[in-house]
Amino acid sequence: MSAACDLVILGAGPAGMSAAIAASRCGLSTIVLDDQPEPGGQIYRAVERRARSGDAASLGQDHAAGAALVEAFRGCGADYRPATQVWQIERDLTVLASHAGVSSALAATAIVIATGAAERPVPIPGWTLPGVMTVGAGQILLKASAMVPPQPLWIAGQGPLPLLYAAQLIEAGMPPSGILDTTPPGALARGWRHLPGALANWRYLAKGLNYLATIKRAGVPLVRHVTEVAARGGGRLTSVRYATRGRVHEVAAATLLLHEGVVPQVQVSQSVGARHIWDDMLQAPVPVLDAWGETSLPGLFAAGDAAGIGGAALAAIRGQRAALRVAHRVGRIDDGQLQELDEATGLKMRRHDQIRPFLNAVFPPRRAIHVPGDDVIVCRCEELSARDIRQAVEAGCVGPNQVKAMTRCGMGPCQGRQCALTLQQIIADARGVPAAVLECLTIRPPLRPITLGELASLDHDRAGANRM
Ligand SMILES: Cc1cc2nc3c(=O)[nH]c(=O)nc-3n(C[C@H](O)[C@H](O)[C@H](O)COP(=O)(O)OP(=O)(O)OC[C@H]3O[C@@H](n4cnc5c(N)ncnc54)[C@H](O)[C@@H]3O)c2cc1C
Repeated sequence: MSAACDLVILGAGPAGMSAAIAASRCGLSTIVLDDQPEPGGQIYRAVERRARSGDAASLGQDHAAGAALVEAFRGCGADYRPATQVWQIERDLTVLASHAGVSSALAATAIVIATGAAERPVPIPGWTLPGVMTVGAGQILLKASAMVPPQPLWIAGQGPLPLLYAAQLIEAGMPPSGILDTTPPGALARGWRHLPGALANWRYLAKGLNYLATIKRAGVPLVRHVTEVAARGGGRLTSVRYATRGRVHEVAAATLLLHEGVVPQVQVSQSVGARHIWDDMLQAPVPVLDAWGETSLPGLFAAGDAAGIGGAALAAIRGQRAALRVAHRVGRIDDGQLQELDEATGLKMRRHDQIRPFLNAVFPPRRAIHVPGDDVIVCRCEELSARDIRQAVEAGCVGPNQVKAMTRCGMGPCQGRQCALTLQQIIADARGVPAAVLECLTIRPPLRPITLGELASLDHDRAGANRM
């Protein structure tokens, strides 16, 4: 299949949009595929719509930056295809995607994966009950539809996103009933030695302090040192039980929103066989990349949070750099220009990255989340519990792929998005080895559920005619 364009970008968040702008400036023919109806990604979701309706409050200070980036992206000349789900990429850099129920193949000289981050699965007792969601899902409702789930609404977890979302709810006039902060004690002691790097990015710290001040002013209870969170109820959530400082409490709840940090969404790069390593700090796999974001598969790049968690500003710089490398590769910029751009963007990238060790130390992944009790469901698609996985290990399974073959864990429609990390940790714990030494779950297409009709609409031999 001959190349249909120079560059296909997966994702129209800060990384994908910035890559498209840089690529178009260099004269690359560029196609951007994104499953959302509008550009913006997670942070700038629905930013245009909210601006048009005069409701930009929930994005706070990020609104202006997002609106400007989206406007530049719209005007950059890249071929932007919204509402398009990428469900497979092949090693020859063919992209398979669906739009409006029809699948097509698209060949590219290079691909930038800019699919962002995913929230870490939070398998606690009762997490599959209706009424329990992630904080990210709650925030999507707020940004995309100005909706807030039913009250009493409790937020449980750690990291910047729960605080940001709570502040956004308060701004929207719908404060949560309370926040159960699961950050392990000793946060400042853990973060102390990384403080100089964090201070170099004082704006991030100021944002965090601002959220805390908003929460305090609104009188929303912020319960610290929370452990053992459990969602309770019959057919749906009715209460949340938790422990703090040695005492157990139970509060009425119609909604519980969970969040224990984000991890790079690596399913696309894993599925195509690019090399990944286990990041001990994140307790998750990350792609192995060169200085420009190129994976071990030539021509395949990762940028933004899909390359490693770094936030919107860093995502944008990484997107730009990947596009510049592609432009250099196809002869649109020369060595001198590349070096100049390398110096300019590399410096910014290192500055924005300096906050990460601080955040990672303050909000470490919690063992209780990785190694849940026997009765907790781990694989939601196949309804398998932690006990089922431990029994498979006892029966001789040594890694995620053996457990998958024996139990179907990770074989459902989410292809491990909800369970792969927990599966890996439970096996490592049961075997008494570090999670890093296990081979990760093999990711198979389709990466997103598609119908047989969508699959049948794809005709490789007629790829030219059927091209998106
Ligand atoms: C749920 C959630 C909410 C967040 N909210 C905030 C926030 O409010 N403020 C903040 O500072 N940071 C937030 N973050 C972190 C923030 O997303 C990132 O720092 C930043 O947006 C990363 O930019 P990106 O371009 O790498 O990815 P993203 O902005 O996540 O963009 C990735 C895009 O790729 C699309 N995509 C993914 N897979 C496919 C596929 N298979 N086919 C087609 N399209 C696909 C996604 O729909 C998305 O539009 C959030 C993260 C998550 C996971």
